[in-house]
Amino acid sequence: MPDGTEKHFNPITGTEVWYIPGRKDRPIFTQKTQNPGEIIPSDRESVCNFCPQNYFNTPPEKVRLVRKNGIYEYQEKLSISDVLSHTADFRCIPNLFEIVTLDYWRKNYNYQFSRINEKFQHEYLADPVGRNHIVSIINLKLSYSGLSADEISAMPVNQKLAMADPFFHGCHELIVPRRHFIPGAQNLSQLASSGEFSADEHYLYFDFTIRSIERIYRNNRYVRYISVYQNWRKDAGASFDHLHKQLVGLDEWGISIEHETTMVQQYPNLYNEYGVNFAGYNNLVICENLSAIAFVDLGHSHPTVAIYSKSPSCQPWRHTEQDVRGMSDIVHAVHSAMGAEISCNEEWYYMPKDSPTTIPWHIFIKWRVNTPAGFEGGTKIFVVPYSLYEVRDRLVPRLFQLRADGRISQMDIAQECPVKPNSLAYVTHSKHDL
Ligand SMILES: [Zn+2]
Repeated sequence: MPDGTEKHFNPITGTEVWYIPGRKDRPIFTQKTQNPGEIIPSDRESVCNFCPQNYFNTPPEKVRLVRKNGIYEYQEKLSISDVLSHTADFRCIPNLFEIVTLDYWRKNYNYQFSRINEKFQHEYLADPVGRNHIVSIINLKLSYSGLSADEISAMPVNQKLAMADPFFHGCHELIVPRRHFIPGAQNLSQLASSGEFSADEHYLYFDFTIRSIERIYRNNRYVRYISVYQNWRKDAGASFDHLHKQLVGLDEWGISIEHETTMVQQYPNLYNEYGVNFAGYNNLVICENLSAIAFVDLGHSHPTVAIYSKSPSCQPWRHTEQDVRGMSDIVHAVHSAMGAEISCNEEWYYMPKDSPTTIPWHIFIKWRVNTPAGFEGGTKIFVVPYSLYEVRDRLVPRLFQLRADGRISQMDIAQECPVKPNSLAYVTHSKHDL
């Protein structure tokens, strides 16, 4: 509009957004933590429960990726003694406070535990150190829940051990990388975000996450969709500053996927037409490679960068290694260009296992730089502090610099991108791929 106001509506998300000039509430990229304090060297790997020196404070580990003699190796179902004896590059651990509880699956679906997980549980508890670990974690959980030290010590051990089932059979998992701080960090604000990985490490993080999606599906036949997300920093809902992803098994698809499925049944070319093509014609594309494309997306409650897979496969675990790497490289580049200072949510969307309708794998990175309030609640119109083009113009120069410095993979940036119309191949996905 002539005064600079920008109004946009996204038919895919169903959200209306206004950008009004002059309403910026804070500058980005300069949002440095004030007087963050120095890192005490002995605390470098023990500042939170996700840090390597505090493995005893997290529930029993399910899987890890470790580097041995230059080769990465997956290790599953280790004893606590083995967990404590080595540092892992990535770990998959249960969430101490599940969103969808094990009881939900047990009582509503008569969910039966897998034999292999039961065997792991039995062996873990037969080991005195493992048993101590379980009691210690349950004590920690009870204290977080508000029980006094006297109440916790009065509770019989058998009752505590019976509370450990979710650790071995639950469907809410965390993926935790090793580092809390960037290598060589001096102060507490130098956190290791997704953008601080090398492109190779970021791919391992993605691959490890995708393997965990498959494992949840394998363990629980009643899971219809697995929500995958990453909350970065407190403003984005994270309870730890230590980077992690979360996976939550659900018995439904969730409102967003159901809405998108209905839309794409009516307009099969939806994601091309309203997503990539629109972004291309309006110069909103940020970067692209053979497998994926990123653009500033309109119609989200927060300024958002969308990354779409161009693969004909619609589920991350059915992508080729090259296509997963391509998605990972683009997501990594966007995080690197944003910097670690911006709180953000990374949200994954893909075609559910039991959906006959094709949806491309796509990821939204939402900048938590505004707080929806009464106006948004009353009108469902979201006011954001940055215009679409301001977001693009913050990221593009940094991408060129990062590429020149060799800190991100090779890719096309802004005007270099081919942005071919209808480049998302999900529409050609066949039943054969299901
Ligand atoms: Zn940590």
